[in-house]
Amino acid sequence: MVKTKKRVVVLGGGFAGLECVRRLESYFMREFDIEIVLVSEDNFLLFTPMLPQVASGMIETRHIIMPIRALIEKTIFYEDIVRNIDPFGKIVTLSGTSEKRGISLHYDFLVISLGSQTNFFGLANVEEHAYTMKTLNDAMILRNRIIDMLEQAENETNPILRKSLLTFVVVGAGFAGIETAGELIDFVLDARKYYPHISKQDIRVVVLEALSSILPGFSEKLAKFAYEKLIQRGIDIRLNTAVTSFDGTEVLVKSLENRENKNIEAIQTKTLVWTAGVTPIDTIKNSIFKTEKGKIIVNEFLEIPDFPGVFAVGDCCQTIDPITKKPYAPTAQLAEAHAKIAAHNLYALIRNKQKKNFEYKSKGQMAIIGKRSGIASVFGMNIHGFLAWWLWRSVYLSKISRLEKRVRVLLDWAIDLFFDRDISRLKYLKRESSKEYKELDEVDDVW
Ligand SMILES: Cc1cc2nc3c(=O)[nH]c(=O)nc-3n(C[C@H](O)[C@H](O)[C@H](O)COP(=O)(O)OP(=O)(O)OC[C@H]3O[C@@H](n4cnc5c(N)ncnc54)[C@H](O)[C@@H]3O)c2cc1C
Repeated sequence: MVKTKKRVVVLGGGFAGLECVRRLESYFMREFDIEIVLVSEDNFLLFTPMLPQVASGMIETRHIIMPIRALIEKTIFYEDIVRNIDPFGKIVTLSGTSEKRGISLHYDFLVISLGSQTNFFGLANVEEHAYTMKTLNDAMILRNRIIDMLEQAENETNPILRKSLLTFVVVGAGFAGIETAGELIDFVLDARKYYPHISKQDIRVVVLEALSSILPGFSEKLAKFAYEKLIQRGIDIRLNTAVTSFDGTEVLVKSLENRENKNIEAIQTKTLVWTAGVTPIDTIKNSIFKTEKGKIIVNEFLEIPDFPGVFAVGDCCQTIDPITKKPYAPTAQLAEAHAKIAAHNLYALIRNKQKKNFEYKSKGQMAIIGKRSGIASVFGMNIHGFLAWWLWRSVYLSKISRLEKRVRVLLDWAIDLFFDRDISRLKYLKRESSKEYKELDEVDDVW
């Protein structure tokens, strides 16, 4: 009797999607009745924890990305953009290449792991003018922007303009914001030796945070250590401060501390880096799945309740911490934990086994705050300073899935100890123009 093939389609090749695919491969490697398909916009996995170090030029751009095809064995890979998910017809629509008008993929089982995008909280002018720190492109563009600002400031005679060129504002004091600010100040101070007219006092890095503390999720003691260390290094951190607009030259902020105080303050800057939060991508928000703040609602098996066999994992789904009753913070660690359970439950569904509930215990968290200092809370211990920084490097290095990339990152770090950073500025466009979407008036590939 000929067995009909069942197709499992995984959308998104980030931490969650790739972990899921690799687990599925281990369950179904020699089972030819199961086909695994992975679709992702880029053909690589981006190792986001090291993204700020790409922006500061410490790590070479390609060293923090792993080609997906080198990480999969049995899986069929499509480098493509997911445009629509139809869970009734069990069809996923992809943009297709410029030769094809579009691709429709049929699935039997689906895993949605499309991650998140920068959340501008509806501030349109911020979205238009701000720099972001989410993709590899963002990091490369920011690095070039910083160098451009130094180049322009070096020969600028207007003191007001010069000050605004050398003022860098980072919005958001979570992981991404603090690590970006730490890397940014290290980079600018190191690069300064090539710019004789720029002194240390001319450079200003400001972090704006709407909450009353930095690095939420860490203990108060560790967050305080990080705060004081960053202040010592010359970073101006303003807590309880919300951004109301940014027109490319001036950021307007208001204090949230004293609600009576309606004063709006202006900071002159040419570079604002927005890391204030993430939200699921528009394809998810526009889908028919039930969402909470844009995140797909899933049951205890990470399955979408109305659609058996469809799972959502990673940044794009919502899982609640039973202790705090709040959603877990979106992290790579959580995304991989989701993926393991979703892959197991898919296997259970296909092979009539027992599904597992999603239960999560964080292994701890770490952040680096620049110049060989960091904070870490692991196995119930709170560590700060050099040891935490060393731990961060060791742990994250071991998490890079390919030995070749691990060696390259290690060499980048070693080179950075002995040599100056490269200040060559490459000209990139600020934002990639999105691929033109051709309406699907006919379907080329229906499997
Ligand atoms: C600067 C920075 C630093 C961070 N540091 C840490 C850290 O130190 N520790 C930690 O645990 N977490 C960290 N995070 C968070 C972590 O990166 C995310 O939580 C994690 O990536 C979520 O995994 P995911 O698979 O859900 O999403 P992602 O890893 O974002 O993957 C989503 C994938 O879907 C693809 N995709 C998106 N839209 C489409 C589409 N329409 N069609 C096709 N493909 C699409 C994307 O290209 C991507 O490959 C950091 C994030 C940033 C930005």
